[in-house]
Amino acid sequence: MTSSERVAEIDLDALRHNIRHLRDVAHPARVMAVVKADAYGHGALPVARAALEAGAAWLGVAHISEGVALRKAGIEAPILAWLHTVRSDFTAGVEHGLDLGISGWELEHVAAAARELERPAIVHLKIDTGLGRNGCPPEQWESLLSRAVAHQEEGLIRVVGIFSHLAVADEPTRPETDLQVQAFREAVAAAENAGIDVEVRHLANTPATFSRPDCHFDLVRVGLGIYGLSPFSDQGSADLGLRPVMTLSTTVSNCKEVPAGQGVSYGHGYRTQKPTTLGLIPVGYGDGVPRIATGGPVLVGGRIYPVVGRIAMDQCVIDFGTTGLAGSPDSPLGKRAVLFGGADSPPVEDWAAAAQTINYEVVTRIGDRVERVYVEARQEAGDGDGA
Ligand SMILES: *Cc1c(COP(=O)(O)O)cnc(C)c1O
Repeated sequence: MTSSERVAEIDLDALRHNIRHLRDVAHPARVMAVVKADAYGHGALPVARAALEAGAAWLGVAHISEGVALRKAGIEAPILAWLHTVRSDFTAGVEHGLDLGISGWELEHVAAAARELERPAIVHLKIDTGLGRNGCPPEQWESLLSRAVAHQEEGLIRVVGIFSHLAVADEPTRPETDLQVQAFREAVAAAENAGIDVEVRHLANTPATFSRPDCHFDLVRVGLGIYGLSPFSDQGSADLGLRPVMTLSTTVSNCKEVPAGQGVSYGHGYRTQKPTTLGLIPVGYGDGVPRIATGGPVLVGGRIYPVVGRIAMDQCVIDFGTTGLAGSPDSPLGKRAVLFGGADSPPVEDWAAAAQTINYEVVTRIGDRVERVYVEARQEAGDGDGA
């Protein structure tokens, strides 16, 4: 299928399926596909296009620069960018028609850019309902609203949205989410009282989209779910009706017989118990495979082998647990090695567990040395080409 030595295969049909499924789950709220951080490592532009084709109404990014890149590539759908610094290019954001999330100080920068361009900026005001990160503190909300209304009356901005972000939605029984919903409703009511015509209220991320319909409001901002992954520790992709989008694979790049007592990789943290065959897997932390994830699973020839010894920058090792493979007609040398994703392969959550992290981080950090290969229409063939 590909000659690439290290491949993150991105199944755009799975992505479209996930978008359609999330649309159903969120209905009648609409879907914002969050494509920040290069679409969680999946490739922002192809993901954005496929998401829009499948009915996502909005795109979400963290940085203005991420949104501008999508505009320059021809994406015309609404794009919201919500994380800024005093060095952000607000002028570019307004010029390219991005929607801008505003938590406080940014408002004056955005208004200045709009004045300079003689073009109103579209803004969504962000209230901190309890996450304690970005967002306007509740005590300052009235003041932010009145400044926003003044700028709106001057024609510099148009406030179309009110939003906030949840802290513990991946643990649906925790009470903090109730408090956040309540605070959000109050913030929306205050905005309406201040004379703002709120078109889109949005609060839910992926976990809240699945577990808290009371958080859907007009729009849900879904990232992880569109990539087919579950935010919950007790439910996998299939339990949520999702299909994982990324499959990470390479080929076994060396295979050799070693005696008992062979130390493996830096530090000799692993020693073979008996004579065995080792396989070399040519990905490491330079490709985004976490260094601490010793024990992470690798599928070769229909069986799963854990990584033994330390993961290095470029490579790691599996122990086939049997002798005589090297040089035999059955040699694993050159066989496909799948780390995660795809049918019958380990789920990315196994790598997340080995790395003491979450699936979000594993896929997002897969690096540039791994080629993204986009696959299409595997499930939706059957339009008569007879292949
Ligand atoms: C990243 C992000 C999201 C998406 O979160 P998921 O859990 O991946 O769905 C939504 N909203 C904001 C503000 C974010 O930063």
